[in-house]
Amino acid sequence: MKSDVLEIINAVNVLYENPKCELMFSSNYELLVAVILSAQCTDKRVNQVTSELFKEYNTPEKMITLSQDELENKIRSCGFFHNKAKHILEASRDLIEKFNGEIPSDKEKLKALAGVGEKTANVVLATAFGEPAIAVDTHVFRVSNRLGLANSKDVFKTQKQLEKVLPKELWIKFHYALVLHGRYVCKSQNPNCKECKLNKLCKFYQKGDKYVSW
Ligand code: SF4
Repeated sequence: MKSDVLEIINAVNVLYENPKCELMFSSNYELLVAVILSAQCTDKRVNQVTSELFKEYNTPEKMITLSQDELENKIRSCGFFHNKAKHILEASRDLIEKFNGEIPSDKEKLKALAGVGEKTANVVLATAFGEPAIAVDTHVFRVSNRLGLANSKDVFKTQKQLEKVLPKELWIKFHYALVLHGRYVCKSQNPNCKECKLNKLCKFYQKGDKYVSW
């Protein structure tokens, strides 16, 4: 492994000692619903919505008692509410019919559920089951490419590059760490590079490149 990449890995590892998922959930099913809702939406907003939604609808069986319109109204502020409601209801029916209402711990089975792609499956695998997985969301994608841990404009290729460069035991931790760094420091439009504790190692900052507003 290149020494500069190793330095970045060590620095992130120290900076984010114990990073955690900021979505609130109390079961694997709640986690899945929260992750589906989090697409193009902040965790803060998702937590506001789910804190009400999960009071009554916290299992697939209870969720499917809602009509599409009723669920849309409850999740409207998360954006893309039509598709999100459709996916949550379809995934809930699939969970009941195929998996006895339980969330499967197998990636391909997860990805067969409505609304669950590579990123969502990886978040669930890592967060619910502690399985090594790197979910590349918008923050992980942006930060890892700016730092120089990855070098791709493609999300899936970025995931593969991160899997190659990071020790497997750090995959889960780095997903959370890069999400937090992207959310609070390395923002899309105005990265706080002067205050960033990784700036001495950051490829974009050191090269003085124009920031790409991913
Ligand atoms: S120096 Fe700037 S671009 Fe690099 S990781 Fe920090 S905030 Fe992001």
